[in-house]
Amino acid sequence: MKVTVWTENVQEKQDYVKKVYPDGIGGEIAKFLSEEDDIEAKWVTLDMPECGLDDETLDNTDVLFWWGHCAHDKVPDEVVKKVQERVLLGMGLVVLHSGHHSKIFRALMGTTCSLRWRDHEFERVWNMAPYHPIAKGIPAMFELEDEEMYGEFFDIPKPDDVVFGGWFDGGEIFRSGVTFTRGAGKIFYFQPGHETNTAYYNPYVRQILKNAARWAACVTPRTRLDCPHDSRTTNAIRESGEEIQGF
Ligand code: ZN
Repeated sequence: MKVTVWTENVQEKQDYVKKVYPDGIGGEIAKFLSEEDDIEAKWVTLDMPECGLDDETLDNTDVLFWWGHCAHDKVPDEVVKKVQERVLLGMGLVVLHSGHHSKIFRALMGTTCSLRWRDHEFERVWNMAPYHPIAKGIPAMFELEDEEMYGEFFDIPKPDDVVFGGWFDGGEIFRSGVTFTRGAGKIFYFQPGHETNTAYYNPYVRQILKNAARWAACVTPRTRLDCPHDSRTTNAIRESGEEIQGF
């Protein structure tokens, strides 16, 4: 499967992030995803032509990972619209950490996606749906010594599944791993991954994101979003021997 990891690559060029992620956050994620035989991941960034999301790249993307923080408003609306249409057609989307406030996540959710936050907290990530494919191989609970606290209320629509729940030693709780479907596209949001913390080196976080890529991968690529008038009945098409067309 082909994964494209998009990051804004702004803070990633600064020393305070480089000392944690010398290859960039997106570079590190693409690297560990590509360790899997069935995943081929590449890293693209905001400063590339068409924000790294040209048609050829999107044509070759089963799942798009999205990490952004301080440059959400630098992503042009036409790029957001194009990505949104791709998701509705079946491209998977994995939104990471501060990507909760990205234009694309907010467009797909239809809500503010705002939350409560504070730097530097101890977090326990609880497995709330051990039967879910994204939770495969993940224990009942794992700990992140230093992560950004994200707390409720998280202004998202009701998720299809709450796969992970975060507890922070400041007292907050959070729906840390949630899934949605929009059109034919599957969406997973995952909270850990602050730019100065080490979540993307954690083996459980890595497993979750590999699982998420496999879960979200496009299985029913569609080719149109229009609303066709069907002039013939299904029975008539069947009698003619033609195949019933989907979207
Ligand atoms: Zn953060």
